[in-house]
Amino acid sequence: MSKQYVSYNIKGIKCDACDFKDMSIEVEKYPEWLNKPCPKCGANLLTQEDLDSVNRMIAAVDMTNKLLESLNVEIPDNSEETRVKVDMDGTGIVNMELAEDEE
Ligand SMILES: [Zn+2]
Repeated sequence: MSKQYVSYNIKGIKCDACDFKDMSIEVEKYPEWLNKPCPKCGANLLTQEDLDSVNRMIAAVDMTNKLLESLNVEIPDNSEETRVKVDMDGTGIVNMELAEDEE
């Protein structure tokens, strides 16, 4: 099994225009939500730009894992996990910030 240096947990869809959100939607289902209107306000829930960004992030994570594994980079036992929260607003621009511990 390959090592997971970086992992992602992408799920849920949020409306950028109102407070609608459905956090149960899995990333595999995102293509079905492309350009779907928000049930509350009618705004576009998932733009092509955002979907492209999601796909690029997943590709970057996979590539990073493969690259680090090919270099035999060891993960120290005492390594700390860093979580990054990612948000998008329909423009395809990805905002990342360090996440507080929350579930
Ligand atoms: Zn909305």
